[in-house]
Amino acid sequence: MNMEEEVGGEGRAHLVMEGTLTARDRVGVQDFVLLENYTSEAAFIENLRRRFKENLIYTYIGSVLVSVNPYKELEIYSKAHMERYRGVSFYEISPHIYAVSDNTYRALRTERKDQCILISGESGAGKTEASKKILQYYSATCPISDNMSTLRDRLLQSTPVLEAFGNAKTLRNDNSSRFGKYMDVQFDFRGAPIGGHILNYLLENTRVVHQNHGERNFHIFYQLLEGGDQDLLSKLGLERNALKYHYLVKGCCPRVSSINDKNDWRTVTKALAVIGFRDEEDLFNIIASVLHLGNIQFGEGQDEQTEITTETQHNYLSKLLGVDGVALKDALTHKKLTAKGEEVSMISPLSFEQAVAARDALAKAVYGRTFTWLVAQINKSLAFKGSSSVIGLLDIYGFEVFQHNSFEQFCINYCNEKLQQLFIELTLKSEQEDYEAEGISWEPVKYFDNKIICDLVEEKHKGFIAILDEECLRPGESNDISFLEKLEDTLGGHAHFVTHKLANGKTRKTVGREEFRLIHYAGEVNYSVSGFLDKNNDLLYRNLKEVLCQSDSQILRECFQREEVTDQKRPETAATQFKNSLAKLMEILMCKEPSYVRCIKPNDAKQPGRFDEALVRHQVKYLGLMENLRVRRAGFAYRRHYQAFLQRYKCLCPGTWPNWHGKLADGVATLVQHLGYKPEEYKLGKTKIFIRFPKTLFTTEDMMIF
Ligand code: ATP
Ligand code: MG
Repeated sequence: MNMEEEVGGEGRAHLVMEGTLTARDRVGVQDFVLLENYTSEAAFIENLRRRFKENLIYTYIGSVLVSVNPYKELEIYSKAHMERYRGVSFYEISPHIYAVSDNTYRALRTERKDQCILISGESGAGKTEASKKILQYYSATCPISDNMSTLRDRLLQSTPVLEAFGNAKTLRNDNSSRFGKYMDVQFDFRGAPIGGHILNYLLENTRVVHQNHGERNFHIFYQLLEGGDQDLLSKLGLERNALKYHYLVKGCCPRVSSINDKNDWRTVTKALAVIGFRDEEDLFNIIASVLHLGNIQFGEGQDEQTEITTETQHNYLSKLLGVDGVALKDALTHKKLTAKGEEVSMISPLSFEQAVAARDALAKAVYGRTFTWLVAQINKSLAFKGSSSVIGLLDIYGFEVFQHNSFEQFCINYCNEKLQQLFIELTLKSEQEDYEAEGISWEPVKYFDNKIICDLVEEKHKGFIAILDEECLRPGESNDISFLEKLEDTLGGHAHFVTHKLANGKTRKTVGREEFRLIHYAGEVNYSVSGFLDKNNDLLYRNLKEVLCQSDSQILRECFQREEVTDQKRPETAATQFKNSLAKLMEILMCKEPSYVRCIKPNDAKQPGRFDEALVRHQVKYLGLMENLRVRRAGFAYRRHYQAFLQRYKCLCPGTWPNWHGKLADGVATLVQHLGYKPEEYKLGKTKIFIRFPKTLFTTEDMMIF
């Protein structure tokens, strides 16, 4: 049991212990706003480190929760812990994800305003674990409406299903979410969970056909091979050995010590049953078909035409996809060209490379669309129509900067720019509103408004995505380099866009010839243009779509609809789809009261007890935590309702002890006068006292000890 645990048991005693010099030195401060030297990054990191060493993984910046991944099971998530946080306000007890969950829930109940909890951080920092803990807290502590226990189970069981299909082992995280997730939990007027809805973002479906060294494909493939019973595997034409499947071994690590695929398979199939899933057979056929697709090979046949050389695989493939074998074979080796506005189309054979690309595109499309379909099924099982209030949970990729950054990082970092915009809008606004509501005068704080970067990316006609889409419209004439040149022409003078070309005709050495640099709010990132056009187009030849929309599989028919083939309209590009879905997400979040959880990964080795300062510093920067603190401290470090303040410190003043009978505000005024607070140190609002410097509060706290 750690220090805070011991005192946490005595409820309010917590701050007292942290208020004593020795205890405070050892465990740091539980809220960064109480840091004396709040502009110092070193002091910030030292505070995190001290707390981490004491297993205190949670710290606040005001109402923002900072969480450091402990990489070990801490005994702080028991039912008893949940009970301890129920109905208790933030400052009275040690920081915890349950405190955020509980406060959000109470705000929903008392203020009757929809809430959201935005969880961010880089891969492996603990976002998904945090969101699971929040869901567990609600399912354990909220009342249950009649017959709604099934709903509660479904909410919880949606996680293993989505993780099986959307998570994978990467170098950074053995259970890395390869998609963004926003989940609404709906509550009825009694505060009982009654429904839910999930939105998914940008599944990394390139992983279906390729994995980097040391990484795996999505968990579900390995689970099926390890856990599926022999009958099922025979029916699917699969062998248990993952090494037999090209799509599973690109990363050379089909087995991971921290993962038990066999057990996970059982968990997932049970979860599918809880969700009320009926199309299991169809779903497993599709998973197996992707594995067979990966083993389809091409060779040169008569007339030097590309043809499929793996007949057995092809037979399984067409059977599992529920499509005509000959038509599929044709579609995998030929493409259909239809000139604009013309009825007649031409069939032309694909080269070897083109056929491989068409096969991989099909695998990605089948898997990616099935994932979206699965989310829709889960949504059906969680659906509640009727009035409800909502807590949204956002578990989405944090800012990414790698050695090599491409289209995916561009999308992820653009998403983070949008979330920063939201943060500015909602947090700074609410800070201001608090002062206004309390009648406190204050000077607005200066901050960098990243709208300029969002505009750079999404502006109509001349924004980054518009230029990218335009280049994608000129197949044959355009390529990644011509795209880069277009960017230079249009965005060349922009303060946040840089290429290797300098204005004086010289070359900038820090940006490669096939790269561009964006100056994000969190820092600079160089992106390689290579692959941008293809990834944005994500082309699946029309004749492959035609074959699939005639499939016997209900799932595939829903995923590949006829209109898509008959419709002459060009499908939306990947970037535009993402931009539109982000715009919708912003609308959803904008009308909610936000809470933030910022997750930090303490080391790259996934080991407990190791705190790599350089790595943490990097994340503190990219999460914008120093700015967050600065904004929070620009006003008042600490605020508390009169009642709570008086209750806690009334014993320090003969005028207020043992009870104050007058107006609360007068009691607090009497108390702080007695304590010798100087006028510049505090302000009295309508219902709260605002204290500018942490030192004032610490001095008062220390008086409580002696
Ligand atoms: P990604 O962006 O890759 O999905 P993530 O931020 O969602 O990453 P998680 O999957 O939540 O990261 O966490 C990675 C691993 O770290 C978990 O599998 C777990 O082993 C460990 N971990 C995270 N949070 C905690 C915690 N609070 N207690 C114990 N272990 C944790
Ligand atoms: Mg995750």
